[in-house]
Amino acid sequence: MADSAAVIAAIGLGGNIGNPRQTMARALKLLQARDDVAIRTVSKLYRTPPWGNTDQEWFHNACALVETTLDPHQLLKVCLEIELQLGRVRTDRWGPRTIDLDVLLHGDFLSDHADLTVPHPRMTERAFVMVPLADIAPQAVVNLQSIADWSSEVDSAGIEALSKSGDWWQDEA
Ligand code: ATP
Ligand code: CA
Ligand code: CA
Repeated sequence: MADSAAVIAAIGLGGNIGNPRQTMARALKLLQARDDVAIRTVSKLYRTPPWGNTDQEWFHNACALVETTLDPHQLLKVCLEIELQLGRVRTDRWGPRTIDLDVLLHGDFLSDHADLTVPHPRMTERAFVMVPLADIAPQAVVNLQSIADWSSEVDSAGIEALSKSGDWWQDEA
């Protein structure tokens, strides 16, 4: 996409039901297939301990930088639609899910509305977000500190990279 109105957004992906690697790869491919979103960089794939509700399966997590002409609300809508398309059923917040797509960052957009809070309100305290995001946007500053610094401060116990690079999603059917 070579559009002067395009901005870089960061999306957090996760899941712990079914085949999260495949579902997350499908989500990235559905985003990539759109003409208003281009995937720029994808982090390694990680296996992470559950957060919030800890009595559930471990998660897979990753982050992606996308270039998009969608505004933040449109991008969130697209993400929520892809979650549904990939079989997400909403039960408990922070409970098990096939796929979760969060809009972490969108250019320099700021919003504290409950329907769309950007930067994502809990991102800097979550190792499962900061560790993958530090792969692809270590210099980005959120809440007055770089992602690299947040990543080194959060408790990343148990987090394990499952891929060597960010191309893990390309070879999934
Ligand atoms: P968390 O937001 O703590 O990561 P979650 O991802 O489990 O929890 P969901 O049930 O997926 O929460 O989302 C609940 C609502 O959060 C969504 O319907 C959406 O309107 C709202 N929301 C607010 N800000 C964002 C954001 N930046 N990205 C995604 N959803 C958001
Ligand atoms: Ca989430
Ligand atoms: Ca979510």
